[in-house]
Amino acid sequence: MEALRFQVVGEAFKKKPLDVKAPSERPCEYFGKKVFNREKMYKYLPKDVYEKMIDVIDNGSRLDRTIADAVAAGIKQWAVENGVTHYTHWFQPLTEGTAEKHDSFIEHDGKGGMVEEFSGKLLVQQEPDASSFPSGGIRSTFEARGYSAWDPTSPVFIIDDTLCIPTVFISYSGEALDYKAPLLRALHAVNVAATDVCHYFDPTVKKVTSNLGWEQEYFLVDEGLYAARPDLLLTGRTLMGHDSAKNQQMDDHYFGAIPERVQAFMKNLEIEALELGIPVKTRHNEVAPNQFELAPIFEETNLAVDHNMLLMSVMKRVARKHGFRVLLHEKPFAGINGSGKHNNWSLSTDNGVLLHAPGKTPEDNLRFATFIVETLMGVYKHNGLLKASIMSATNAHRLGANEAPPAIVSSFLGKQVSELLDHIETADKDFLAMAGKQGLKMDIPEIPELLIDNTDRNRTSPFAFTGNRFEFRAVGSEANCASAMIALNSAVAEALVDFKKRVDARIPEFEKKLAGTEHSAKFHAIIDVLREDIKTCKPIRFDGNGYSDEWVLEAEKRGLDVEKSCPKIFERYLDDASVKMFESLGVMTKKELEARNEVKWETYTKKIQIEARVLGDLSMNHIIPVATRYQSELLTNLNHMAVVFPIDTADKLSARNKKIIQEISERTFAIEKGVEELVDARKLANKITDEHEKAIAYHDKVEPKFDEIRYQIDKLELIVDDALWPLPKYRELLFIR
Ligand code: ADP
Ligand code: MG
Repeated sequence: MEALRFQVVGEAFKKKPLDVKAPSERPCEYFGKKVFNREKMYKYLPKDVYEKMIDVIDNGSRLDRTIADAVAAGIKQWAVENGVTHYTHWFQPLTEGTAEKHDSFIEHDGKGGMVEEFSGKLLVQQEPDASSFPSGGIRSTFEARGYSAWDPTSPVFIIDDTLCIPTVFISYSGEALDYKAPLLRALHAVNVAATDVCHYFDPTVKKVTSNLGWEQEYFLVDEGLYAARPDLLLTGRTLMGHDSAKNQQMDDHYFGAIPERVQAFMKNLEIEALELGIPVKTRHNEVAPNQFELAPIFEETNLAVDHNMLLMSVMKRVARKHGFRVLLHEKPFAGINGSGKHNNWSLSTDNGVLLHAPGKTPEDNLRFATFIVETLMGVYKHNGLLKASIMSATNAHRLGANEAPPAIVSSFLGKQVSELLDHIETADKDFLAMAGKQGLKMDIPEIPELLIDNTDRNRTSPFAFTGNRFEFRAVGSEANCASAMIALNSAVAEALVDFKKRVDARIPEFEKKLAGTEHSAKFHAIIDVLREDIKTCKPIRFDGNGYSDEWVLEAEKRGLDVEKSCPKIFERYLDDASVKMFESLGVMTKKELEARNEVKWETYTKKIQIEARVLGDLSMNHIIPVATRYQSELLTNLNHMAVVFPIDTADKLSARNKKIIQEISERTFAIEKGVEELVDARKLANKITDEHEKAIAYHDKVEPKFDEIRYQIDKLELIVDDALWPLPKYRELLFIR
């Protein structure tokens, strides 16, 4: 019988690109077609209700329960016109992905018939039977249920026949059980803190928005090949597989022509994304074969996070239509680049100023320096926590390998910004006082926006300044961006609050010194605090090669977090400094943090556990039997040779086969031994009841056993007859498209 592998390879080769019909309208016409956006609110809501909704969205004013019925009625009318029959609260539990429970609109009408209903109550709150979502023990199965609550700042949308309502998911006692609730709190905190600081420069600022533009990397694999790889199917990555003779060394995939079947998929995906209001803009090949990237135009962070979650699920669905599977795992293939999700982040004011972009006047640039330095202060103080926010069992494979950001958080600023900060730090302390007496003349160099050169980039930096934003590159491709955004926005909010306190305390001092020039006293106080902070956060600034061994030593000397073990990195969430920060900003309580860490450790353990099982099964059921079969063929050949040739000649002629027979025995033996040890290590780890300790045992004792087994299997792949090898090989997974 022909191996499944050859069947699926043959079929994959024959597949033709799907013919994707573009809508008759232009993209700007069908953009947001499936979203209850402002335009539709205007059309479907009474005028006063519309105005209240806009006030809720733009100014964060409280949602008045009395308007909920009117909003629900408008939404329902629009939904029904679009063929919708069901609705769901759509939320982001602490597992990966999103969750939903669909209910239909129909209700008994009391006269034996049915009516379609959708009230404000159903829009605002739902109680999904959520006991099986991870809660880290906050809400055990027997306790009160969790409920989901409408987030009016992220518009409802339609998928197929279902109206999806973005919601937070919280326990009955108010603890967050999801990503969105703490994200909204962190965004509120950074808004308040940054607005206060903005008032030094412009008293008319009412609101500061956090912006996020993510760049989603992913792999595509033919569906048939995927199905023939139980490891991909069950763990999202290949647990074995020898390098393809050719992989990414030619750099010919990056920005190369997009293969046709992939192009059709992308086209389809983009149409669906645009209809859902996701402003996708860029698509291209990535460095590795079969690796691609998609990026939208940046948006307000909460919306951007929702859009990324939505996009990931749409991607999976559309990929299947095209006979592909999309791999979002950070490291599906050993030896070639993994996937990340760069998070481009910045703050901007309601009057349109990008706070991380340099301006035209010295005052603008003082404000620019303030936001750069206080961002660095936040990142410096909480560098370990930021690493924890992007760490996962899957992203651990990517960080630290020589391709992606290293497992140490540092920041690259580029020459111009570094010089600006050096200038502020080292300039003569009196120069400002002198200038101050003559009015406001600040010796802050101008940096025209255009000069901040995008080419001045350092690809190895996990947190790089790129002209008008920071790019947090360590985020994993599979991750919910909310995790990184909660930590980053909170860290910066805390730094800004602290900054403001110190500046305010120093203003009177400078007023005394510079009698009569109250305006500049403020600026002097700002510069004084900035100087201090530039010195303090210097250890986080690093423009060199983040992959070098020297950097690890240097970073350790600087006091940066250099821990590499995933479960230990999670501990940073419970550091006093982290708890204090999250609690003081009202983002998360200690209880919530503890519960969430339980979930993180448990998830980590489960992932490694599943991988260990799959590796064991594949070794015993796929690899060893096939290697042994090939070995038997060689043995038969040996016997036949001995019959045909005189013994000396047969010996000589069979030397190579004998060697292989022996090698197969040695390697299968080593695999078997490895699997036994793996099972033993797992059994031992499973006895541990504490989730933290168990995760550490899985990291220290179980996972390291994978390497030896894989090494032996990959060697066998090189010597066993290709016709017998059961699993699609790297060259097939990576080059068929
Ligand atoms: P790259 O060259 O790194 O691929 P792009 O220009 O494609 O960068 O932009 C990457 C992402 O950064 C996009 O989503 C883009 O909208 C976003 N972006 C650009 N400017 C900002 C900003 N000031 N704040 C946040 N995101 C931004
Ligand atoms: Mg980028």
